[in-house]
Amino acid sequence: MSTARAADFVCLQSAQALAELRTQVAAWRQQGLSIGLVPTMGYLHAGHAALVDAAAKQCDRVVVSVFVNPTQFGANEDLDDYPRSLAADADLVAAHGANVLFAPDVATMYPFGLPKHVRVLPQQLTDALCGTSRPGHFEGVCTVVTRLFQAAQPDQAFFGEKDYQQLQVIRYLTRDLLMPVAIVPVPIQRAEDGLALSSRNTYLTDEQRSKAPLLQQTMQQVAKQLREGLAAESVLRAAMDALTDAGFRVDYFELRHQDDLTDLTQAPVEQYKQGRLFAAAWLGKPRLIDNVAVNDAVV
Ligand code: AMP
Repeated sequence: MSTARAADFVCLQSAQALAELRTQVAAWRQQGLSIGLVPTMGYLHAGHAALVDAAAKQCDRVVVSVFVNPTQFGANEDLDDYPRSLAADADLVAAHGANVLFAPDVATMYPFGLPKHVRVLPQQLTDALCGTSRPGHFEGVCTVVTRLFQAAQPDQAFFGEKDYQQLQVIRYLTRDLLMPVAIVPVPIQRAEDGLALSSRNTYLTDEQRSKAPLLQQTMQQVAKQLREGLAAESVLRAAMDALTDAGFRVDYFELRHQDDLTDLTQAPVEQYKQGRLFAAAWLGKPRLIDNVAVNDAVV
């Protein structure tokens, strides 16, 4: 759980934030201290706090970044509406043992304007699932994470399994580009009723919020059926139909290999145990995403 608030906690958000961060990180390195980075888009909740806790446990110093990254939002997505709460974010991360909140402005992260494309893409990972319905999203994620790694030069960086495809994309990216950063996964943090915590849950009406846990419950049910040896194709189809009947607009509900994300729908039943279920569905305004390992499911 939470560590004591660091006496030296600072929030870096001026035009000099990057220079200040580099000075601080260089000083820590000189003292032989290890540095953890937790990249976020802010409006932080207990899910993010779990990442900060993990970083504080494993690293001597912790940097949390808050940056609503324009290049990972599509033209019709919620860049302008995305919730922000920097003062509350600073209180939260400080209480969980962070030393620096790095909240750069867009010009700091993109000194030459917003790039239209990046050169290195883990395409076999980025073309499926969220990559299909959010063209350009993972290119934006890879671009900003590369910049954040350069800015903070962490030994370890912490990413939530909530965004499991993102986690795999970043693992690939760091291996592909020989980046000296260990990627540490953190389990999904959930509300008591099973809904994965997300900043976008704030968009749910009370009625939608009470319906939302059905996504996770359905995934657990499907995982159980797959473990029992039922064929994936029909089970996935029935799950999508059930969610649609309940008022969700399903984007995808798929069974994929947990490492390389290849589609396992037609694979032999024995391979299901290496699989993970991935789902995305709109419930009113927000698009909820969730995933569960077939073998880890609790039902
Ligand atoms: P975001 O601010 O939504 O871009 O998320 C920043 C980081 O927090 C990512 O690594 C997410 O996977 C992680 N995260 C967000 N929600 C959760 C959650 N409910 N459980 C675990 N990690 C999460």
